[in-house]
Amino acid sequence: MPEEHHYDLVVVGGGPAGSSAAYAAAKNGIKVALLEKENSIAETVRTSGVTWIQNIKEFGIPDDCFNPIKNFSFCSPNNEVTISDTIPRAAVLDVRKTYRWLANEAEQCGVDVFVKMNIKNVIKNEKGDIVGVNGVGPNGETTFHSKVVIDASGFQSTVCKAMGFVEQWERFGAGAEYEMKAEHVDSETWWLMVGQEYSPAGYAWIFPLGNNIVRIGVGVGKPESNVDPTQRLKEIIDKKLGPIKKLGKLTEVEFHYGLIPNDGLSRKTVFNNLIIVGDSAGQANPLVLEGIRYAIKFGRVAGKVASDAIKSGKTDKEALYPYENNWRKEIESKINSARKVQDRWIGLTDEEWDKELDIIKELKPEEFIDFIKADFGLSNMIKLATHHPKLAVRQLFNLVKGKT
Ligand SMILES: Cc1cc2nc3c(=O)[nH]c(=O)nc-3n(C[C@H](O)[C@H](O)[C@H](O)COP(=O)(O)OP(=O)(O)OC[C@H]3O[C@@H](n4cnc5c(N)ncnc54)[C@H](O)[C@@H]3O)c2cc1C
Repeated sequence: MPEEHHYDLVVVGGGPAGSSAAYAAAKNGIKVALLEKENSIAETVRTSGVTWIQNIKEFGIPDDCFNPIKNFSFCSPNNEVTISDTIPRAAVLDVRKTYRWLANEAEQCGVDVFVKMNIKNVIKNEKGDIVGVNGVGPNGETTFHSKVVIDASGFQSTVCKAMGFVEQWERFGAGAEYEMKAEHVDSETWWLMVGQEYSPAGYAWIFPLGNNIVRIGVGVGKPESNVDPTQRLKEIIDKKLGPIKKLGKLTEVEFHYGLIPNDGLSRKTVFNNLIIVGDSAGQANPLVLEGIRYAIKFGRVAGKVASDAIKSGKTDKEALYPYENNWRKEIESKINSARKVQDRWIGLTDEEWDKELDIIKELKPEEFIDFIKADFGLSNMIKLATHHPKLAVRQLFNLVKGKT
């Protein structure tokens, strides 16, 4: 007999978006199941885990989940810049610890977490609206009935694909990374490495985690380049290219690989009885393809809106729309601005990258952070585009805000 469960809300995917949605919904008093296909939450790490201390504090993530970063170094084939801040504002997460903390917060609020639960299909009512999901769990075929489903399955977008609402992402980033023990590490400094040899459409990175551990990775934009990021990563480590050389002897700890959508905010994210959040919704900052803080933030919004709708007895797309309205208001224009910079960056030659670093050099730490976070407030952009003492910076921000 297939196993059957009944919940108010089912959340598919135990990543940051799913755990955060489940947490906010259960906190609002409804019965929630969180379904994760792996053997445990964050069994496989598919991210580099860079985020921002301000957001970490806002979410209540404990201090022992991250390594603080104060200095931001960039290198291109013939140029180098370090922007040093007075206090650390960025962070490299212990991804497993953080994601497990998020899921544990949900569990503490009453969420039932099901691991080894691989969701494969959807259940629809006579109108064609989703009313549950099914898949394979530890006891075989398992069905979950629910009033609302949240698709937080990440890049795969399992639920909205099974509903026939979306196709595979066309533009995306593929990233490969080794977590390594290194001989010499400046634990407060991250490196972004740009130019053809690092990545023909993307960048490479060194992110320190503390205790002499670093994540060294390569990200490649698809379909712009057919370079295999794993192969390229091995090559740059073998050659000890650029700042990798300074790390001294390297010993592998773990390998990570992942895909992240880069199609912008092209998807609708609410349907009758269904919300899509996190990578499933394409909610990533395109400049450096970071999405963890959006996944947590809008996961919580999704959980709150879904649970309010369930409590009101009305769960159609109009009732769920406040979620889409919330994230669009908050990030849509910023992400559109960031895409303009990304379009510029993706086509740069090595010589042009060398010059681009000269522009980045002119930014004050807080300007740099707003820039790399894609936190382009209109008044800030106008200020930088009109009043910055350097012409090149004014030109860059004119481009970002849309003037040619
Ligand atoms: C190489 C790389 C580096 C990155 N670096 C950064 C970074 O430094 N900083 C940053 O902010 N972002 C980074 N990102 C992006 C970031 O990882 C994502 O934006 C973020 O993980 C999105 O969270 P999510 O919960 O939506 O999806 P995910 O983290 O992908 O979680 C989805 C979960 O759903 C589960 N799942 C999938 N299908 C099913 C199914 N059928 N049934 C049940 N469970 C299922 C998965 O196992 C997974 O646990 C990076 C991405 C990549 C690929």
